[in-house]
Amino acid sequence: MIPVYSAADPVEAEILRAFLAAHGIETVVLGAPLWGARGELQADVYPRLALRDEADEAHARELLRQYERRRHAHACWPCVCGECSPVTFEVCWSCGSERPA
Ligand SMILES: [Zn+2]
Repeated sequence: MIPVYSAADPVEAEILRAFLAAHGIETVVLGAPLWGARGELQADVYPRLALRDEADEAHARELLRQYERRRHAHACWPCVCGECSPVTFEVCWSCGSERPA
């Protein structure tokens, strides 16, 4: 099995497993049972996604890149007016103030 992604937590691992499955790529989540022991173990306990079929590797990595780009697009910057605008906006969607440098 080929590890392709380290998830931040078991929830993200499960979301990505379902995301890849929807594209016909079968993965397994490794390490999730260790999640409850994080802090007690020195080992890397983050859940990892691994491919069942290495032939899917290029496709899986492309989908994971898309996932990361989309996640980044959901990030936002705080405006002086108290609202939060997506990082793709140069001015605040609410008050029109320019994005701080
Ligand atoms: Zn604003």
